[in-house]
Amino acid sequence: MANLLRSIPSVDRLLNEPSIKEMSKGLSLLETTEIVRTFLNQLRTQLIQSPAKVDYEQVVSQLADEIRRLQLQKFQSVINATGVLIHTNLGRAPLPTSALQRLKELGNGYFNLELDLTTGTRGSRYANAARLLNVLSASDNPSETDTVVVNNNAAAVLVVLKALTEGKEVIVSRGELVEIGGGFRIPEVMAASGCLLKEVGTTNRTRLSDYRNAITPNTAAILRVHPSNYHIVGFTESVSRQSLAQLCKEHDLLLIEDVGSGAFYPFDEPLVSTALKHSSIVTYSGDKLLGGPQAGIISGRADLISIIKKDPLLRAIRIDKLSLIVLEEVLQLYLRKEYDRLPLWVMATIPLDKIRQRAETWLDHLGPGLIGEVKPTQSTMGGGSLPGETIPSWALVIHSEQLTPSQLEERLRSADPPIMGRIHQDRVWLDPRTVLPEQDKLVQRILAQGVTVCS
Ligand SMILES: *Cc1c(COP(=O)(O)O)cnc(C)c1O
Repeated sequence: MANLLRSIPSVDRLLNEPSIKEMSKGLSLLETTEIVRTFLNQLRTQLIQSPAKVDYEQVVSQLADEIRRLQLQKFQSVINATGVLIHTNLGRAPLPTSALQRLKELGNGYFNLELDLTTGTRGSRYANAARLLNVLSASDNPSETDTVVVNNNAAAVLVVLKALTEGKEVIVSRGELVEIGGGFRIPEVMAASGCLLKEVGTTNRTRLSDYRNAITPNTAAILRVHPSNYHIVGFTESVSRQSLAQLCKEHDLLLIEDVGSGAFYPFDEPLVSTALKHSSIVTYSGDKLLGGPQAGIISGRADLISIIKKDPLLRAIRIDKLSLIVLEEVLQLYLRKEYDRLPLWVMATIPLDKIRQRAETWLDHLGPGLIGEVKPTQSTMGGGSLPGETIPSWALVIHSEQLTPSQLEERLRSADPPIMGRIHQDRVWLDPRTVLPEQDKLVQRILAQGVTVCS
């Protein structure tokens, strides 16, 4: 065993190995040394558990693979050919150029984040964004409406429930007890906020009487949640916002609504303002609903917003300055109705024949070993929009006789830059709708390499 362990190569020898040097380009020596050390420690543990002769060449090649894997963890541009517009794994919404410009102007120096320039005293970071959001959602009582912005919508729901309903009962329909994205589960968020979940109705049917019968002297609110990523079909029944608002009024309860995503704002403009007409508080996502930065927006009755603002949790989950800069600019674009400067809007509204043309051009560039055709498909909004909410599109559909669909998908994912497609019916589907037009040349170059792409 001692001899075996002695045959493990030294850190220095591996650091000087040409292929390791090549693979670690761009990494600091400190970082590479740490990777080699960790790798050798694992090798040592492995040898103790199951002794085997150490093959130097094999060690070098495994280490190179490990360095490559870690190099790929670094953020890099990815070509999104999945047709999913708000793709959570790919950063959700691409941001408008003008917003990034603002980020550069302000982020590079100091700015009046929390300074009132008229008095020279401490100001509120939320004030301007809140004012713009109040104008945008133009509810019936603008002067009685206020807004506060936090880090994301999950945090928004959490702080609303904690500040307004802690220790009290909150009624939710069983059809709305959903899990969204990476572990946002309504029952767990409610438990974390300290309110008591009172489920009513069934998965597919909840009636007004179910809500009414559940009200006790300890009830604080009814929570309405947009089911986002799932859809019940068949015999369903739910209660309208108006009826719930009426019931809440009769019993002096709050109506809290998480509209989450539901719809991309420009397509469903009245969503938030309609919700605000009836609900006491409305929350939604800055990226999913507005195509802006990650943020959680809380709008509603000014007296309630002021209670939320005083909650210590708010300070812990407040929006950071970089997201806030981007959000302010995105809101300006909305107020000026300059939707064509929002990348998501542009992608969502590309004319169909334009998409087909791009797919045809990609087809013309297919290299050796790749077989393709252009077929109609559906793009999806993603980001928790309803499964049925799709936009007609075209895709380049490719396969290869040498590779399985998942091998082909993997080759494209290993290209430089990586291309993300979608496997469907044993083919890889590439939808140009979500590919930035300036990336078309890159896609063509990568496809032209044929099955050898990045191998
Ligand atoms: C996505 C979503 C959330 C979570 O929003 P994040 O901004 O991702 O934190 C909460 N509720 C609903 C209904 C959603 O769709």
